[in-house]
Amino acid sequence: MSDTVFGKIISGDIPSEFLYEDEHCIAINDVNPQAPVHVLVIPKKGIPRLVDSQLDDQALLGHLMLVAGKVATQQGVGEAFRLIVNNGAGAGQTVFHLHLHVIGGREFAEGRMAG
Ligand code: 5GP
Repeated sequence: MSDTVFGKIISGDIPSEFLYEDEHCIAINDVNPQAPVHVLVIPKKGIPRLVDSQLDDQALLGHLMLVAGKVATQQGVGEAFRLIVNNGAGAGQTVFHLHLHVIGGREFAEGRMAG
């Protein structure tokens, strides 16, 4: 767990609706969605940034991607979504508890990495 807003959501200190939960992660709607579907897949383990993950986390990282795909399908955007991880403040990371953004339900500009 981590002492971030996501740590508090996972522990239940901040009430939040889980779209998905298993022993390793949760998925919640982003509070400030950038698209009709904007879900965050968050490991229960409080890894601050992707770059802080270790070899031990390999299975967990793969699991998060599988869950991202499942949640995208569950939300109706399984055919077209983006999966984004912001690593570090310079890349726009604001919550230092690893999370995957699943973004879909809108047009994406061809060839662009984001936006
Ligand atoms: P980052 O910029 O760190 O990659 O993404 C953090 C995301 O968390 C942002 O998109 C922001 O809107 C979202 N967020 C921040 N605080 C909360 C919160 O309390 N609840 C939810 N559901 N999302 C949050």
